[in-house]
Amino acid sequence: MKKAVVLLSGGLDSTTCMAIAKHEGYEIYPISFDYGQRHNRELECAIAVAKYFDVENHKIIRMDNVGGSALTDENIDVPKYKGDGEIPVTYVPARNILFLSYALGYAEVIGAQAIFIGVSAVDYSGYPDCRPEFIKAFQNVVNEGTGAGVRGASIEIKAPLIYLTKADTIKLGLELDVPYQLTSSCYNGGAEACGQCDSCVLRLKGFEEAGSKDKIKYKKGIQMCD
Ligand code: ZN
Repeated sequence: MKKAVVLLSGGLDSTTCMAIAKHEGYEIYPISFDYGQRHNRELECAIAVAKYFDVENHKIIRMDNVGGSALTDENIDVPKYKGDGEIPVTYVPARNILFLSYALGYAEVIGAQAIFIGVSAVDYSGYPDCRPEFIKAFQNVVNEGTGAGVRGASIEIKAPLIYLTKADTIKLGLELDVPYQLTSSCYNGGAEACGQCDSCVLRLKGFEEAGSKDKIKYKKGIQMCD
């Protein structure tokens, strides 16, 4: 059976990628990161999602935190959604480069053919490491810098959501029975999502446009569609 490493944050996009990889016939090997996030909610969700998909092995990598982001430094506040095209302080420096590098090493060891990453360049926060240019550049790194690549059996970096809106991702996910109730997107963490950060706003907008209801809990006063 072909194998895929899936970057699993416990959020909506990466959980959709789990379902896509499974649907495409891959045996899935999720990998998650404890990188000094300001809350543990993400990792708890990642563990719950991995359990739901009944995977053999869920790898959790612990990394030192280099700071410099509202997601890793408690002294930097998580801003409310602006959508002004600027890179927000929730950007974690080089995060996807680091994550993909670990995933790549793991993929080589287990003989995986693909790595799935749930980035999107449509409804996103403007992070440079979520763009098609980055994925293409990293694919070159894989081809030129790994044993698998040099042997001509390179590992494919798959970003199936990259051109999808959040609503399209959710519609696709609902068709694949993605357990969105187990996921978490809020940058502030906690059992109830804030509904005001970039990630919450994009998620809520996505469910609304997909004509569906988000089943996770939000703080009181947050508008939900039915
Ligand atoms: Zn939030």
